Amino acid sequence: MGRFTFTMIKPDAFAKGHTGAILSRIQEAGFRIAALKLTRLSPEKAAAFYAVHRERPFYESLVQFMSSGPVVAAILEKDNAVEDFRKLIGATDPAKAEANTIRKLYAESVERNAIHGSDSDENARIECDFFFSALERF
Ligand code: ATP
Ligand code: MG
Repeated sequence: MGRFTFTMIKPDAFAKGHTGAILSRIQEAGFRIAALKLTRLSPEKAAAFYAVHRERPFYESLVQFMSSGPVVAAILEKDNAVEDFRKLIGATDPAKAEANTIRKLYAESVERNAIHGSDSDENARIECDFFFSALERF
């Protein structure tokens, strides 16, 4: 199990001013911030980031949403980071997410669901490299 995962506060949660509260919950859950930036995905970058979903019916809408405004990208460090972070954010659909998870608290819908978390160590590595150079990691 790796020590790192990648997360992104999505445009819905950033626009509503939830960044501070979400970063607090992440740190209180024992994750260390190893890299952090406010940025905006172009439609091309959003399409590449979610390319695994390109055959799904929600893909075009997802790409449009993810490029609609700024996102907060971060690398997080903790033992068992990927699995523990997925637990902290909750199910993809906030209606199915457990109480007190970040998505239960802040997501609007299955698409506008506030936050991303890597789903494997391999994808965490790929996603960290997608957003951050070596000089941007601490
Ligand atoms: P993420 O990869 O963003 O952490 P996830 O791993 O929980 O989320 P995925 O199945 O990878 O869920 O879907 C990626 C994203 O696509 C979701 O977070 C959500 O924004 C959107 N999405 C997933 N399923 C649907 C759906 N049925 N309708 C609309 N959007 C969806
Ligand atoms: Mg996913």
